[in-house]
Amino acid sequence: MRYFELAVLGDPNSGQWSGTYRAKRKWYVPSQLCPRCEAWGGMQAYPSVDLSSLPDNDSLAEIWPQAPEEVARRVALVRPFVPPALPLEPGCRLGPLVGTAHGHFGPVTVWPSWQVLVREDARDLLQSSGLQGIIPVRAELRTRRTKEQALYELEARPLAKLHPACIYDREPTCPFCGRHGFTLPPKRWLLGESVPTGLDLFGVEETTRIVVSERFVDTVNRLGPSDVVYREITVE
Ligand SMILES: [Zn+2]
Repeated sequence: MRYFELAVLGDPNSGQWSGTYRAKRKWYVPSQLCPRCEAWGGMQAYPSVDLSSLPDNDSLAEIWPQAPEEVARRVALVRPFVPPALPLEPGCRLGPLVGTAHGHFGPVTVWPSWQVLVREDARDLLQSSGLQGIIPVRAELRTRRTKEQALYELEARPLAKLHPACIYDREPTCPFCGRHGFTLPPKRWLLGESVPTGLDLFGVEETTRIVVSERFVDTVNRLGPSDVVYREITVE
């Protein structure tokens, strides 16, 4: 199986589709304030997480940086609602996108590069074609067009890892906040044993990258072109 990273068009004006949206999340794990690293947070999102039954969910409406103890307190509130195998890092976004949309959308919309939405017909085709790892969550986007199809965000769980040989500048673990980040290597490939067998969409741990299978690309392309770049990523 070949795999492809999702990327936005190099020239946004070269696209065929006029659709744009502005949206926020319902809930957040706050970013982390650290005396050494200053403020930081990741871009991971779990749109399928529903915190509407959590009594204290008002305190999760903001992403503003907080001290490590407060981040830990809020992570503990959220943890029971997130599958135990998935990381919950500072800056994690939870729940569906909520906002407004304008214009016409292609089968697949990638904007920014760490968010992927599909049109309702694309969601139906991915599911009826038997693709695996497709977790669609309806984006709550208000639009003036009543005939426009609904958009569904696909949850990209960070299941694969970059191959350690392509990471060249990993920082030592920060003693205050635990951060040990690295720069996204321009030349990168996936660690073979970490690639989830049979899944057609997944995220890459510690990065903002979303990877889809060749089968995913072939399936959505049956609905016509999308304003998306599929950049092959190899597995070693
Ligand atoms: Zn730190």
